[in-house]
Amino acid sequence: MAEILDKVYDPQKIEAKWYAYWEESGLFQARADGSRPPYCIVIPPPNITGSLHMGHALNNTLQDILLRLKRMQGYDALWMPGTDHAGIATQNVVERMLAAEGRDRYALGREAFVERVWQWKGESGGRILNQLKRLGCSCDWSRERFTMDAGLSRAVREVFVRLYEEGLIYQGDYIINWCPRCQTALADLEVEHEPQDGYLYYIKYPLADREGALTVATTRPETLLGDTAVAVNPEDPRYLKYHGATLRLPVLGRKIPVITDPHVSLEFGTGALKVTPAHDFHDFEIARRQNLPGVKVIDERGMMTEEAGKYQGLDRFVCREKIVKDLKNSGLLEKTERYSVPVGHCYRCKTAVEPLVSKQWFVAVKTLAEPALKAVQEGRTKLIPVTWEKSYYDWMTNIRDWCISRQIWWGHRIPAWTCNACGQVLVSREDPDKCPHCGASDLAQETDVLDTWFSSALWPFSTLGWPDATPELKLFYPTTVLVTAFDILFFWVARMMMMGLHFMGEVPFHEVYIHALVRDPEGQKMSKSKGNVIDPLDLMEAYGTDAFRFSLAAFAAMGRDIRLSEERIGGYRNFANKVWNAARFTLMNLEDYEAAGPPEALPLTVVESWIMSRLQQVTGEIVERLDSYDFDQAANVLYQFIWHEFCDWYLELIKPQLYDKDDPGARRHCQEVLLQVLSAILRLLHPFMPFITEEIWQKLPGVSGSIMAAPYPQIDENLSNPRAEEEMRLVMATITAIRNLRGEMNVPPASQVDTYFQSADAASEEILNRHRQSIILLAKVKKIHLIGIPSEEAFGTPTVIQTPPPASAKAVVAGAEIFIPLTGVIDFKEEDRRLAREMEKIGKELTQAQKKLANEDFLAKAPAEVVSKEKERLQSWSEKLAKLKTHRERIKKLMG
Ligand SMILES: [Zn+2]
Ligand SMILES: [Zn+2]
Repeated sequence: MAEILDKVYDPQKIEAKWYAYWEESGLFQARADGSRPPYCIVIPPPNITGSLHMGHALNNTLQDILLRLKRMQGYDALWMPGTDHAGIATQNVVERMLAAEGRDRYALGREAFVERVWQWKGESGGRILNQLKRLGCSCDWSRERFTMDAGLSRAVREVFVRLYEEGLIYQGDYIINWCPRCQTALADLEVEHEPQDGYLYYIKYPLADREGALTVATTRPETLLGDTAVAVNPEDPRYLKYHGATLRLPVLGRKIPVITDPHVSLEFGTGALKVTPAHDFHDFEIARRQNLPGVKVIDERGMMTEEAGKYQGLDRFVCREKIVKDLKNSGLLEKTERYSVPVGHCYRCKTAVEPLVSKQWFVAVKTLAEPALKAVQEGRTKLIPVTWEKSYYDWMTNIRDWCISRQIWWGHRIPAWTCNACGQVLVSREDPDKCPHCGASDLAQETDVLDTWFSSALWPFSTLGWPDATPELKLFYPTTVLVTAFDILFFWVARMMMMGLHFMGEVPFHEVYIHALVRDPEGQKMSKSKGNVIDPLDLMEAYGTDAFRFSLAAFAAMGRDIRLSEERIGGYRNFANKVWNAARFTLMNLEDYEAAGPPEALPLTVVESWIMSRLQQVTGEIVERLDSYDFDQAANVLYQFIWHEFCDWYLELIKPQLYDKDDPGARRHCQEVLLQVLSAILRLLHPFMPFITEEIWQKLPGVSGSIMAAPYPQIDENLSNPRAEEEMRLVMATITAIRNLRGEMNVPPASQVDTYFQSADAASEEILNRHRQSIILLAKVKKIHLIGIPSEEAFGTPTVIQTPPPASAKAVVAGAEIFIPLTGVIDFKEEDRRLAREMEKIGKELTQAQKKLANEDFLAKAPAEVVSKEKERLQSWSEKLAKLKTHRERIKKLMG
């Protein structure tokens, strides 16, 4: 016997209950025993500092849909969860806490500081994972990993040592991006480039041995203190006579040569380029080619060094002001132009980045990039949508060596030691206690830690147990698909490709599905500074998690950014309620149903054949769309089918049979099919709306166990029935046409009307005859008449009617013309007056909108969205007016 559902669906009442049930029942756990085909997704590990934002919500909802689907389809599905230690971000959080206590990390010391971070991680680092649980994520929590846990740390060390031994990790002087606030090197990707209003300064460098000067243009005059040459293009006719000349550096008076370099642009500034190897990437390269020395004039804190002469100790920006003043006073500043200066900022703290030369650790990436490039070109890893391939190729082709050392304390400390006795550098899997070269035990470990992305680059295989040859690694690597946003395509995806191919000899994933960003309703990127951030937890609270998840899936159109609309989330909450009510109706009508015994062998009715046939089609479409990551289309197919075909039509059409107490066999059969359809719908919907489907599932008669463990519906070709579908299309079109006619003609909802059919052929006539009861019931028809059919049986009409009655409204559907005589049903004169009034009202609105849009003042001052809204209004008013006009003409004609 069926249990009845609560009258109203309350998501908050059931969500936590079912999540706990799934987890306790071990339903999230992969078996990893080879008994089923593998399916694996590694989660993009959220930062331990993170809390769930809209991007996570989308990303993880899509993954969960795939995992739940594949699990139900019989795969051994593993969703590998975990978190990232997020080096700089986490260190910043704890440093801020220390600052609030009036302390800093130096006072604490390295060991105590790192301990403090671990303590913080233990207390607050798991918040985001709990939020993922709230979202319904079916991760295998028994396998949860952390980029700094013992296993992953071992993998990191192994990779570092192997790359070092292969000569792919080296230490070198290199120009790097440096954040003077965070006191660390930044990878190219961690620098945000944003143009800033500034100036281009034209500075004269006097010739040392004759009269005259060369003028260079720069946006950063303070760096001239570190100039070691001025370079011109060898082809530049303006400077032929200066080749080989010597200049006197302004302010400092140091002598520097004029050199030629083919990479100097003839267009920028004066065509003469000051070369500052220690503080500019481009100049650093020139200096390498030309063997120029570098002079470091800015230090790690952004202060001028001893080399800066009298400016020593000044902040770099204060120095800029001072030096400009000095140049002006000595007549060496030729002119100043306003200029948009491209400035790099630290992605964490927004401080202007300073290019500095320092000793850093690098990965020689070229060797690793080549196989990663080829794997995508050869289709071994597919990027979806394919439009991302070009950026991937560009990046992989122009890739520079990866600076992996960071001057912070929180992270994987680089496993390198320097022997203080003989200077030997040791890189080792185990912490060494003495130097293998000289035997001294005075060893100093490298103080830098590794870039956070170094450990996350290993995520697909380190989480599966590498470097050990675990059964999990064998079964689940390469993983099936990676689901990610495009903003970490290079930070993370590209590096996983390189590391996976190098250490596993195989791509880390067969497919990468790259989804869009979630923007605010106006299409703006959500950001704290704009104050337009919407918290996913608020939405789950307000609309229920299922409705929120379904919305995200329905929004996720391939390659298009998402504009979050609360209105639509509200719409999907209504959808959840619709499903609830349909299930409640079903269960109430299954109260006397006993699941025992084989299903009734009665043949399906046409209505049942139709819904079963549609169910097969819809099942096929959903699976196909999900397999190609068209989440929005899958969601939409499901929504349309459930709302319109199942709820609006099927449940209405079967009522007479379901209520037929006189024919228990027919009722039992109807119940049986209804239960089958509902069961299939719940399973189809489960990956999108896990909670509500479980709640209903558990109340279905004859069900045991979780819906998570039930099989996903499969197509049964035997149930495909195009003839039944065509037949029901005609019936539904007919009922819809009659309903529309009633609506258009303003027929009171309670009044039943006579209807006349003129069938196009015998076949449609037969169909309409077979479904007359449904038509009468659902379209509120009093009596059905047939025109021109001289048959006694036809709809039971005793006499032959040759023409439709006068004053009939008419509609056409494929197969028949439908007439509804309106005499006596509506008052034509009153209707005409009503329409006249309505048209006048709308006419006024229309004129008002027209006036507004003709007003140039309004157009100039109003925000673009207000204007476009007004245009939409105008459009909708004129459409309404046109409709009313046509309708009034129709009424006039009917009045005769
Ligand atoms: Zn910074
Ligand atoms: Zn030594």
